[in-house]
Amino acid sequence: METGGSMSATAQIGVIGGTGLYQVEGVKVLTEIRPETPWGLPSDAITICDVGGVPVAFLPRHGRGHRILPTEVNSHANIAALKAAGVEQIIAFSAVGSLKEEIAPLDFVVPDQVIDRTRLRRQTYFGDGVVAHAGFADPFCPRLRQNLLAAIQGLGIKVHTAATLVCMEGPAFSTKAESHLYRSWGGSCINMSALPEAKLAREAEICYAMVCMSTDYDCWRDETEHVSAEMIFQNLGKNAVNAARVIRATARTLAAAARSCSCAIATHKAVITAPEARPAETARKLKYILPDLF
Ligand SMILES: [Zn+2]
Repeated sequence: METGGSMSATAQIGVIGGTGLYQVEGVKVLTEIRPETPWGLPSDAITICDVGGVPVAFLPRHGRGHRILPTEVNSHANIAALKAAGVEQIIAFSAVGSLKEEIAPLDFVVPDQVIDRTRLRRQTYFGDGVVAHAGFADPFCPRLRQNLLAAIQGLGIKVHTAATLVCMEGPAFSTKAESHLYRSWGGSCINMSALPEAKLAREAEICYAMVCMSTDYDCWRDETEHVSAEMIFQNLGKNAVNAARVIRATARTLAAAARSCSCAIATHKAVITAPEARPAETARKLKYILPDLF
């Protein structure tokens, strides 16, 4: 990758890379930043890349070299750092297991719903004296989803929509009983990384959608070999190539798009605590992600 360039260290478009996606191949890196947020440091340095003339902020969720367990990811710092970099829209990539026959390995899925099966993660920026309840009925930005779906279809990648993602704690994969249970709930695919990331992006008033890249059939499908790390790794490389194509195909459109969705004001009416009752230290932290509200 080349470095240098004249664009500033901010970007309106953010990309979070999941397992197998630690950098964007074929783009020029303009600069690296590592904002220290009130919640600590992000998973790694954020690279500001030039994607067809559009600055894009890229952050690998598990760090370069893949050092951070899903449970250990500091999503609070990751989302806050992207917000500090100027990001208003996040395309989050994730490797997933398929819970449906028709979602084959190497297919893409842009889910519209998520079921939370995490247990060990703090799900909000709020608390410590300031209460807010953000709307999460539609956990992913519908406008961003439509943009991504159109781009992925245009690239000829098989993509599934109207899908329900199950987010589990991990790090071990599901038991067969759990996998069958999630199928009975209508789950389409399963990962360990959508939450609390999507909730924190909503609270920080950033548009967020997830592009799930199928690597395997989890363990419910008796006629195939059960999920193993080895099988998954073989599909990750191919998915990373397609992920880079999606980023290149969408950056310019997204940067030019008006945010006609409601994400930019998602928290404006969600804060319940009276201004005079908000502890100063908590308000100071929240101002980092919500400068208009605190
Ligand atoms: Zn939005």
